[in-house]
Amino acid sequence: MSEPMVDSHVTRSGFDQKTIVDAVRRAVGTPNGILGLHEPVFAGNEIAYLEECIKSTFVSSVGPFVDRFERMLEEVTGARRAVAVVNGTAALHACFILAGVGPGDEVISPALTFIATTNAIAYCGATPHFVDSSLETLGMDARALATRLDAIAQKTATGTINRETGRRIAAITPMHTFGHPVELDEIAALAKDWNIALVEDAAESLGSTYKGHPVGSRARLAALSFNGNKIVTTGGGGAILTNDEELGRRAKHLTTTAKLPHKWAFVHDEIGFNYRLPNLNAALGCAQLEQLDGFLANKRKLAAAYQRAFADVPGVHFSHEPKDTTSNYWLNAILLDEENAGRRDDVLAALNDAGFGARPAWTLMHKLPMFAQSPRGDLSIAEAIERRLINLPSSASIRTRDE
Ligand SMILES: *Cc1c(COP(=O)(O)O)cnc(C)c1O
Repeated sequence: MSEPMVDSHVTRSGFDQKTIVDAVRRAVGTPNGILGLHEPVFAGNEIAYLEECIKSTFVSSVGPFVDRFERMLEEVTGARRAVAVVNGTAALHACFILAGVGPGDEVISPALTFIATTNAIAYCGATPHFVDSSLETLGMDARALATRLDAIAQKTATGTINRETGRRIAAITPMHTFGHPVELDEIAALAKDWNIALVEDAAESLGSTYKGHPVGSRARLAALSFNGNKIVTTGGGGAILTNDEELGRRAKHLTTTAKLPHKWAFVHDEIGFNYRLPNLNAALGCAQLEQLDGFLANKRKLAAAYQRAFADVPGVHFSHEPKDTTSNYWLNAILLDEENAGRRDDVLAALNDAGFGARPAWTLMHKLPMFAQSPRGDLSIAEAIERRLINLPSSASIRTRDE
């Protein structure tokens, strides 16, 4: 029997890639060239601070902007201590070491994340253990985490272990996807109940809040990223956040070659990392953080414009911030209805042809060859999000059509 003839462009619900392109145009107009997914904005003191660095000759591992950047980060996040490092991946790596993650351990993490989360676990000689994501938050699903822990975890004298693998579960790492905070209360409660360290991957969520508190200030350790595509950039950069003074000192020590302070002697007391953020990058970061409130306000306006534009479009919905949170809307996202998931690439092609730098979600971690053998719970929601999600241009510089 042959397939019945169907119109390949319009589904029964009236879903059509053209209606998606039109909705994006209603929000942001017709681009002049390509509207990138996320472009940096340099509208403040960037050049002045960089010039100050160069004139002072302090461009590298010593200089006042590193301290200033760290104090500004503490102000913004409410964390007691921020330690600036070379990138977000390095921040995560250091967080895991500081949380006690080591060879042979497992770390519970989402399959829907950027590779950095999972790589940093592997750098410690540990294995990621994937749990499912939530359609509302796009991050780790607290109920899926509870179910998985009930199924495989067991408390022992030496910590909580995975009964199936015999490995210790050393940390739980939720990630605030595209700026939407996860269900932090529930996840933190589970981490506490099971006596497992909580490490937040807050790389995408600077400026987001959960029940009124900035994300990244809840866990013992959290990581930020200031890559060129993040909400503020240092060129490349990251930070470790902690509320524990002693851990903060350890974080600084570990990421600056574990050198003992001395006027001239080079003595190091453990195998440390050269992860310190150069002064030049920190200078850029200071200028960027001065503009964070403006970036956040513009991004909220953009998100609201997308939300309005997609309100009545059949077959798709805009992913708005979860209840009790404010998202920094780092990347705006729409989710196609399941029946339209097969059309995702048509929609992506149409958006890109129209000048909108739209992108799909990351390939899920358990589908990558390095992590194909990693233990996992049911990942059906993460797989649905992967099939259905499209990120839309989200730069803070984008003007909505009604502005
Ligand atoms: C950007 C990002 C990181 C860190 O990336 P770097 O490029 O190393 O700064 C980590 N986790 C997530 C989820 C990210 O999006």
